[in-house]
Amino acid sequence: MSVKYYEIALLGKKLFSLTYSYEDSLNFGSIVNVPLQKRKVKGVVLREVEKPDFSVVDIENVESLYYQEWQLELASFISTYYRCQIGEALQLMVPYSHDYPKADKTAHTASDIVLSPSQETAFKDLLSRDSSLLFAPTGSGKTEIYIKLFDKVLNEGGSALFLMPEISLTPQMQKRLEAYFGEKVAIWHSKLTKSKRQSVLESIRNGTVSIVAGPRSSLFLPMQNLKLIVVDEEHDDSYKAHNRPRYHARDLALWIGKQSKVRIVLGSATPSATSFAKFPIVRITEPYIKTKKRYIFEGGSCSLTSNMLEEIERHHSNGGQVIIFLPTRANFKYLYCDNCSYSVMCPFCSVGMSLHRFRKVVQCHYCGYAEKIPSSCPKCGSIIRSDRIGTAEVVEQLREHFSDMNIEQFDKDTITTASKLQKALNKFAKKETDILVGTQMLAKGHDYSDVTLAIILGLDYILALPDFRARERAQSLFVQIAGRAGRAREATVIVQTNQPYFFKEYIGKYEKFLQEELVYREGLYPPSMYLCRLLFASKNEAKAKAEVDRIKSKIEKFGLVEIVGAGKAPIEKIAGKFRFNILLRSSKRADLMRVVKAVDDGSFEVDMDPVDFA
Ligand SMILES: [Zn+2]
Ligand SMILES: [Zn+2]
Repeated sequence: MSVKYYEIALLGKKLFSLTYSYEDSLNFGSIVNVPLQKRKVKGVVLREVEKPDFSVVDIENVESLYYQEWQLELASFISTYYRCQIGEALQLMVPYSHDYPKADKTAHTASDIVLSPSQETAFKDLLSRDSSLLFAPTGSGKTEIYIKLFDKVLNEGGSALFLMPEISLTPQMQKRLEAYFGEKVAIWHSKLTKSKRQSVLESIRNGTVSIVAGPRSSLFLPMQNLKLIVVDEEHDDSYKAHNRPRYHARDLALWIGKQSKVRIVLGSATPSATSFAKFPIVRITEPYIKTKKRYIFEGGSCSLTSNMLEEIERHHSNGGQVIIFLPTRANFKYLYCDNCSYSVMCPFCSVGMSLHRFRKVVQCHYCGYAEKIPSSCPKCGSIIRSDRIGTAEVVEQLREHFSDMNIEQFDKDTITTASKLQKALNKFAKKETDILVGTQMLAKGHDYSDVTLAIILGLDYILALPDFRARERAQSLFVQIAGRAGRAREATVIVQTNQPYFFKEYIGKYEKFLQEELVYREGLYPPSMYLCRLLFASKNEAKAKAEVDRIKSKIEKFGLVEIVGAGKAPIEKIAGKFRFNILLRSSKRADLMRVVKAVDDGSFEVDMDPVDFA
């Protein structure tokens, strides 16, 4: 045997791939152990290379774990598009193993679900396309359609992924899937114990499990003969990773679909404007069970009114449950008029401007434009403010007012673990809780069958967010929260907003909103334009600032893309580090990639297609 040379990606390392030698032939994708500066690290065989003119060390040994070609290709795409080393991208993936012999496939008995005519039509439409968007209201039976799709895949000997936000992976969902697919289905999430994780992986590797339901990370599992990926709640931001590499699981699913001929079904009651514009739409307009909904619009800001308290009383005595929504309070840093909902918007970027109290300015952190903090509301003259009540205060107020009711808080402060989430949902399902007061968590697809009153506070704050998707987020929340009420019987939705027309206009007409939103964003934001955010962080503020200027002038020399702005990030300091950002824009994705690649010297983090601008 002659010595061969291989390029090895270093797993999980922010380092370039290195060349090592081995006495034998190696398969691409094999996981190997290699020495690196006196330590032993894991690497992945990428390709064979010519004998280099420098001396190299030997690969120590070869493991029985390996990545399949699709994983190598996906990792390569992630490292190019989201900017990281290939070893970091491969670290996301779960390898295949030579140690698990394939179990014999047991026959699958199709589920006995009978689809309604509109579900049946949607089912057939989804099957006629490689990728499509199932745009269907809450309660229209999306899950039944998915189950039929999984049925079909199983009958053909394939496997499927069912992606959903982690918070939707409840025991109810698990029971429901197990009722149809028995041991062929597994749930995958970040909180599995090590032994449970191992046993699920074993079942995936030997092929006993053919359907996996899980959050974004399940996209990287070693599935056998993958034929279908369903991305439910495709509009949800939890599909986007918050750390390097900042990939978007929905977009990666679509990439896999194209590369490996896997069918992709995106699903949502409130699809993102981007998916709405880009994919063939399979539409169900009517919910399965049609119930009547009454909408009441009230002015004011984030607080309970006497009318709301009366309605709560009335619904409670009629045996109904109540949910109350408030937007999260974290990082609340923008100005807002309590009286007329005026918020200071950037004249150039059409997004809310952030408040910088010490510098006495409001500033747009997309483009950097700043102006003096107005002392009173420019529109109505009343006092302008920047604070408001949160879930805890509302719970307190309610408890004082309704001492006989059970009122629970439902947000990230109180629901810190999966078991707490489960407990809260169980209590609510058993009607031990009368009123649930929560944040965005309330909107995430849980079934509350006896909710007859939904109160939505503070939507105007969402509209004032310094985020180009503020309007979409407000509309989506409105529809999702209202959709939680009246699943089984008539319901009332009270909406507190000083901009009632913006919401009334689109009740039952989400398409109309999306169409107008696309016009609103044209030439400014996705999907017609692409954005990329470069993030700088340093304990030394002057140093970070200098880095920003240096990279900015490099980009300017390129001239290929627009620099929307460069300067301080909205959250100026996290964990002792000063934060700066540069926002880039282009109508061509390839141009953005070219420029970022050319200036990327490791001094900043790259966020392609950003959804978080904090
Ligand atoms: Zn005002
Ligand atoms: Zn601006």
